[in-house]
Amino acid sequence: MSVKENLTKVKSQIKESVTLVAVSKFHPTSAILEAYNEGQRIFGESRVQELQLKAKELPEDVRWHFIGHLQTNKVKAVVPLVEMIHAVDSERLLLEINSAAAKANKVVSCLLQIHIAKEETKYGFAFDECKRLVANIDLLQLTNVRIVGLMGMATLTEDDQQIRDEFRSLRVFMAELKSECMAHIDYFSELSIGMSDDFQLAIEEGSTMVRIGSTIFGTREY
Ligand SMILES: *Cc1c(COP(=O)(O)O)cnc(C)c1O
Repeated sequence: MSVKENLTKVKSQIKESVTLVAVSKFHPTSAILEAYNEGQRIFGESRVQELQLKAKELPEDVRWHFIGHLQTNKVKAVVPLVEMIHAVDSERLLLEINSAAAKANKVVSCLLQIHIAKEETKYGFAFDECKRLVANIDLLQLTNVRIVGLMGMATLTEDDQQIRDEFRSLRVFMAELKSECMAHIDYFSELSIGMSDDFQLAIEEGSTMVRIGSTIFGTREY
């Protein structure tokens, strides 16, 4: 199937209210253009150099989302190019993004990445760490970042119930954060959960934003 057909199929499976991030990492600009010509504008990339090259080649109105782990020393390169950063997992990174965005004279939407899966990983806040961050720093003082929500990845498992439980725990947690952080209506309203293998479960559990790669573009060759 072509990118065009895959995209049409995916779109028919997600609700209108759910934002589709077409994850184009490792795929050529020609594939991105195919999706672009079908009206898709939001694309997700996870490597800095690849994003820089693609942003240069593709139309200005592409809305790039950086979805991978971002090192603080790469923030300056990424911030001018993107609308949203999905995997903010430290206070230091958040502060770097804020200052780079101030220099670039823009506001970058950010999602705090929470570690919900059973697999060990260095990335993502634990629930209590995230709570501490939100309690301890005045997010509204960071004028060039907007903390629009949370992002998470479920365990790689065949057990749908486990995946649901993990997604649900994130939704419940975000509701808690939102009630404690009444200051700004835009804050903590997006839930970036769901990838090719689990986006339908994620939508049933309250996803507002799905990040779908291989189902649209085919398998990646690393
Ligand atoms: C690669 C990637 C995706 C897309 O994964 P697929 O299984 O190909 O849909 C989504 N989110 C993140 C953070 C990724 O790195």
